[in-house]
Amino acid sequence: MSLAVHIHRAALGALDLIFPTRCASCDAPGEAPFCGICADTLVPLPAGCPVCGAPQDASLLPALRPRRCLHCRERAPAFSFATAPYLHGGALAERREDLGPALSVLFEGCTAPRSDCLAPIPLHPQRLRERGYDQARLLADGAAKRFGLPVVSLLTRVRPTGQQVGRDRAARERNLRGAFTASEKAQGLRVCIVDDVLTTGATASAAAEALLKAGAARVEVRTLARAP
Ligand SMILES: [Zn+2]
Ligand SMILES: [Zn+2]
Repeated sequence: MSLAVHIHRAALGALDLIFPTRCASCDAPGEAPFCGICADTLVPLPAGCPVCGAPQDASLLPALRPRRCLHCRERAPAFSFATAPYLHGGALAERREDLGPALSVLFEGCTAPRSDCLAPIPLHPQRLRERGYDQARLLADGAAKRFGLPVVSLLTRVRPTGQQVGRDRAARERNLRGAFTASEKAQGLRVCIVDDVLTTGATASAAAEALLKAGAARVEVRTLARAP
């Protein structure tokens, strides 16, 4: 075999590692990011709260003007608008998380943010060492192509916050207070935060608060999925 063929094969092998043509959920070969069966479990995000995107009771729709959800009426989050292409669940809940580049094509189903740049929600450095990859960064890099916006690392997680799962809304908010700082490069920018899943929005709101404090003009949020 010629050297050129060897190099070509090696390059294809590397490409398969980066963009594996396997379903990100059930690992079936040949289809990415999801096979037909897993893709059928994806539910597009229904109409909901015009601030945090929380799906609303279908019986209240179509309303003349979408109403903010109870939580956003009680205490508005720091971001202006959050949305996602899909509801969290099905194949999206079972997928491999290290496939950011392949999964970010799902942002095709999502309105583009009115922003100047994308800023992924960072992991705490200690957590990043344990995991070996940064899911939000991988997704942001993929979303950059879809939205035609640069990725700028504006956020720093200044203390580990542990798992949010199992905490209620108030506990999540308490736990995240002061967890992020933002670079002064955020000054005057319209920023779109990118993350994996939005649950209560407490993490995104804490990050948005840091960005606004650093002088950002406006903050939106895009996640791959939204908790129902
Ligand atoms: Zn599958
Ligand atoms: Zn809301």
